[in-house]
Amino acid sequence: MISIEEALQIVQAQEFEPAIIDKDLQSSLGHCLAEAITAPFDLPDFDNSAMDGYALCGNHQTYRIIGEVAAGDTSTHRLQDEEAIRIFTGGRIPENTTSVVMQEKTEVAGEQLTIDSTVSSGQNIRPKGGELRAGQKVFSPGHQITPASIGLIGSLGKPSVKVFKKPSIHLITTGNELITSGTERKIGQIYESNSLAIISALNQFGLECQGNQQIEDDFELIKTGISNYLNQTDVLLLSGGISVGDYDYVKAALEENGVQEIFYKVFQKPGKPLYFGRKDNTFVFALPGNPASSLTCFYIHVLPLLLKISGSQKPGLTKVLVPLAHDYELKGDRPAFLKAHIENHQVTILDGQSSSMIYSLAMGNALACISTPQKFKAGNMIECALIS
Ligand code: AMP
Ligand code: MG
Repeated sequence: MISIEEALQIVQAQEFEPAIIDKDLQSSLGHCLAEAITAPFDLPDFDNSAMDGYALCGNHQTYRIIGEVAAGDTSTHRLQDEEAIRIFTGGRIPENTTSVVMQEKTEVAGEQLTIDSTVSSGQNIRPKGGELRAGQKVFSPGHQITPASIGLIGSLGKPSVKVFKKPSIHLITTGNELITSGTERKIGQIYESNSLAIISALNQFGLECQGNQQIEDDFELIKTGISNYLNQTDVLLLSGGISVGDYDYVKAALEENGVQEIFYKVFQKPGKPLYFGRKDNTFVFALPGNPASSLTCFYIHVLPLLLKISGSQKPGLTKVLVPLAHDYELKGDRPAFLKAHIENHQVTILDGQSSSMIYSLAMGNALACISTPQKFKAGNMIECALIS
């Protein structure tokens, strides 16, 4: 059995060269950049008005209005002292403009403009290069593209970006007791839910599951299911059947398919029977079937691999140090990921820590990462991984 740190290091050390593809900017959300993005020009690249109002020349009480500049107007205007020009937000600032006064602070009578208050030099002018300078580095390779990133890259006039291809992912859930939600259930059966949670967690991080199959606890069927997915995927995830029960066939079925075990069993709670293996360029994680175990193992161990092979710079979930809201004792000897809720800058460890219980995970927003079981006091700082 290996430690959590060893497991994380082993996963991090895996070599994998994600393919680089050109992606239309609009469909690049969630991809990681494979190129650096640099501003090709100043942003904005001309002085422009931050307000609907009047561009003024000099510092006076009254001005003569000589014309108008709307947003998108490409003509050049020039002001003389005591002249003003009607201007709208985004409009190009005329030469010799001292400042822009907002229209709410003005009165107009024919060609004459009177202003209510003094306007300081440069006021309400968005200067050329005020946001970005030409040549300025905007994103490094590995940046995961967000809606705002897309807006920014679009404003730099770039219609497409070089990104790392997202990994293909397949999922097999195993268990005789599992039936699909919406179908009639007999006593002894349960609704299969791990695939729903895991696929949603993939989606949460901008990834998709290309195929998903439910297989009963049958060695041959599991072996064939693995074989069908193995050659067409970057990452194969399995849930259930990886522990020591008589019907736990996943490990043997992986071996029969030539998957090399990299580790099996991690000294942690929940999720001790976690399996990680590889066949050529396909990575395999077999997650314990208990719902809270499988999702916790996904967040803590699978996500870092997925981020790495997606070309991301991020190591995994965002972690924060938060004071404990109450006294808490973690018993046992294993490091633990506890279902927890952060609110008002403190963390509460939730009831229902059993690995079978998804309710408490659904009520929480974090996993409290406790490396040494011990008694904690309210106010002790706890490392928490944010799950939502
Ligand atoms: P296993 O890891 O196969 O021994 O399963 C451990 C526990 O998790 C059992 O109570 C299973 O019924 C439950 N379980 C396994 N797979 C799933 C699944 N896909 N959805 C919901 N519960 C599951
Ligand atoms: Mg099972």
